[in-house]
Amino acid sequence: MTIDLTDKVIVVTGSSWGIGSKLIKAFSEENAKIVINYNSSETEAEFLYNEIIQHNPNCIKIKADVTSIDDIKKLYNETILNFGKIDVLINNAGICDDNLIQELTDAQWRRVIDVNLMGVYLCCKTFSQLMIKQSFGKIINIASLKGQEGCEGQTNYSASKAGVIGFTLALAKELGKYNISVNAICPGFIVTDLNRHNNIKKMLAEKRSLMSIEHNLNDLINFILYMSSDKMHSVSGQVFNVDSRK
Ligand code: NAP
Repeated sequence: MTIDLTDKVIVVTGSSWGIGSKLIKAFSEENAKIVINYNSSETEAEFLYNEIIQHNPNCIKIKADVTSIDDIKKLYNETILNFGKIDVLINNAGICDDNLIQELTDAQWRRVIDVNLMGVYLCCKTFSQLMIKQSFGKIINIASLKGQEGCEGQTNYSASKAGVIGFTLALAKELGKYNISVNAICPGFIVTDLNRHNNIKKMLAEKRSLMSIEHNLNDLINFILYMSSDKMHSVSGQVFNVDSRK
């Protein structure tokens, strides 16, 4: 099976590094028109952009904080100006800022909820305007298993991701009539370049998994590629756990 994304316009929020940058590379290899979004990691975004445009000229990068409606409007306007449409929005930008509840500050709570939940809301609200006009679109929200299971020391993160799941289910009900699908993906612990050596988290994730977690980043990327392509038409309002949690 080949996944061909030629001419698909795909926006990936938070794609300067981590999972988002891997998605950008994978979409680019399938000839998509891609929008790299970053907030603070200008150097990483520039590096990724320079790598991509060597083989795919249909790539732009836009600085936008997903918590700012003005920035999201800029992201939206520049996407339309350059590519004229939007096929897939992937809400990937996310942060964690962990603490046990008694030590957790209100600022830590607010920032995590702001980026992880408010950001998804703002991007969906803004980009679905055009998707409704087009009568087509796919929204993929990256949540987390922690939004279903909770995690000690991560009340803010777990609450934000549980919020993303509820938001996804409700939005899918609103947008289905416009031929717009909305789904959430819940990865478990993903091995990236950043946490490959984070031995405690990796060890715990391995203990809880039925399968080796070494390849779960590739599994996640391939899953999202498939969802973004014309191979998948009518799936919406679903929460996919991409993991092998016991
Ligand atoms: P990461 O490596 O920390 O990357 C996070 C990305 O989000 C960066 O590109 C960052 O860009 C961007 N970002 C942060 N705040 C932003 C803001 N206000 N506006 C725009 N972009 C912003 O994270 P990751 O591990 O790749 O995770 C990606 C997504 O998967 C997140 O939603 C995360 O919760 C979810 N997830 C990850 C795992 C895992 O094990 N890695 C597991 C489950 C779910 P800048 O640096 O440029 O701000």
